[in-house]
Amino acid sequence: MPDSTVRTVVIVGGGTAGWMTAAAIAQALGPHVAIRLVESSEIGTVGVGEATIPHIRAFNAKLGLDEAEFMRSTQATFKLGIEFRDWGRPGDSYIHPFGAFGPDLGEIGFHQHWLRLRAEGLETSIEAFSAPIVISRLGRFAHPSADPRALLSTFSYAYHFDAGLYAAFLRRYAEERGVQRTDARVADVRLRGADGFIDAIVLDTGEQVSGDLFVDCSGFRGLLIEQALKAGYESWAHWLPCDRAVAAPCHAQEPATPLTRSTALDAGWAWRIPLQHRVGNGYVYCSDFISDEEAEATLLSRLESEPLADPRRLRFQAGRRRKQWSRNCVAIGLSSGFLEPLESTSIYLIQAAIGHLISLFPDGSWDPVDETEFNRLMELELERVRDFLILHYRATQRPGAFWDARRQMAIPDSLAYKLALFEERGAVVRYKDGLFQEPSWLAVYFGQHVSPTGFNPLSAGLPAEALRREFAGIEQAIRRQAEALQPHESYVAQLCAVG
Ligand code: FAD
Repeated sequence: MPDSTVRTVVIVGGGTAGWMTAAAIAQALGPHVAIRLVESSEIGTVGVGEATIPHIRAFNAKLGLDEAEFMRSTQATFKLGIEFRDWGRPGDSYIHPFGAFGPDLGEIGFHQHWLRLRAEGLETSIEAFSAPIVISRLGRFAHPSADPRALLSTFSYAYHFDAGLYAAFLRRYAEERGVQRTDARVADVRLRGADGFIDAIVLDTGEQVSGDLFVDCSGFRGLLIEQALKAGYESWAHWLPCDRAVAAPCHAQEPATPLTRSTALDAGWAWRIPLQHRVGNGYVYCSDFISDEEAEATLLSRLESEPLADPRRLRFQAGRRRKQWSRNCVAIGLSSGFLEPLESTSIYLIQAAIGHLISLFPDGSWDPVDETEFNRLMELELERVRDFLILHYRATQRPGAFWDARRQMAIPDSLAYKLALFEERGAVVRYKDGLFQEPSWLAVYFGQHVSPTGFNPLSAGLPAEALRREFAGIEQAIRRQAEALQPHESYVAQLCAVG
């Protein structure tokens, strides 16, 4: 067994996962541990993770980052949700907002009253009652109001940022706090004979770097967790068969909106992520239904301006590493598993893994209970996201071979249960306290034409005319307040202006 204290942490990989881990451990454990990060500038990073969910703000806040400095350094814009185009049916557009539909009206969800009024003839879309949807469709932005009674307090926000610049920003932060960086290639991993723990990594310079805890942030290759420790991989490709992507940035031809865009295409979907200095674009596709050349041509034909770099091709398989913590190694980032970026969750999953690692930080006794608990928590995190992603593919009326197969596929029991409850009378269950809360599920259900046959009978207790008046008032108030906000692009420019 190793020495009884974890004094040295060795991180392999300097992508988003590696530098987020280094920064967070340096902040949390400071001088108690020595942190060494090894990355290979020859190998490079994936670097296309640019869209986030609101949890990233808690991560940045924990590090004590200043929002304006962070946004300036990473060319960031704000994000109020994701616009899904053509997902339910060709021609559709709906937004998954970071915020509620309507204000809190008491015992039952706002959407139950909307379902009731809709059954009685109301034609207004539920989107008209969501402040972040109305604001983002107008291309406006403001920080949420701190007054909990205000309509403009009913939302949250995230960022789009340049992942390479974010890693560089966190690198500066981590190095200022003592993290030691080495640019070299890991050529070998040496295991101890007695217990199979990692003893040291061997660099191509000949140096051997030993440590107590090793964090594998080496990306898809899983250099430590898979190649050395053989943790195994559970594939979810039967549910999420997209296995490739091609990405290319370009200049924007329209003002940056606070929205990621996802457009369904014949063999997958395309993303559009507006940053300050460019737009990130990509096509996530299933190689059984389109060739790499066709996918690249499709992406290039959709760009709003000339590509700023050669298209980048990536391969992956949806799923998770069977053990994300094995012996004295913890996998964080792409080395731990992959779910396509349909709901921008990978950076969140990095953040979650870091949080769980810090709260279960090993004391050197290597009690297997820590490993078991970390693996349980991460399995849960991934499963919650997985089901939500599958819903987007299942609930579609799009034509075409790829989409027919998605509609007909068997789905996990946990998702079938959720769908059945919603279709009955609009109840939303969050599987084991899932990451995505009620508004997220509602947005996809309603946006993709999953409609309950009934509604909660408690709504029928309210007088119809008063409810209709209240709804009209809410709709008008949201629209009026949204229209009074500043355009998103000038809001960002003002925030990021120096001095
Ligand atoms: P990588 O970026 O691959 O970094 C691996 C690191 O390991 C590099 O520094 C590399 O040099 C190093 N390394 C590897 N081998 C060695 C070696 N032998 N020796 C030394 N160093 C080595 N996430 C989101 O949250 N939002 C998104 O919008 C989003 N979009 C995505 C789109 C696509 C197509 C893909 C594939 C992913 C997307 N992601 C997104 C995920 C996101 O990109 C990753 O989660 C994030 O970049 C973390 O990657 P990583 O640091 O784990 O791996």
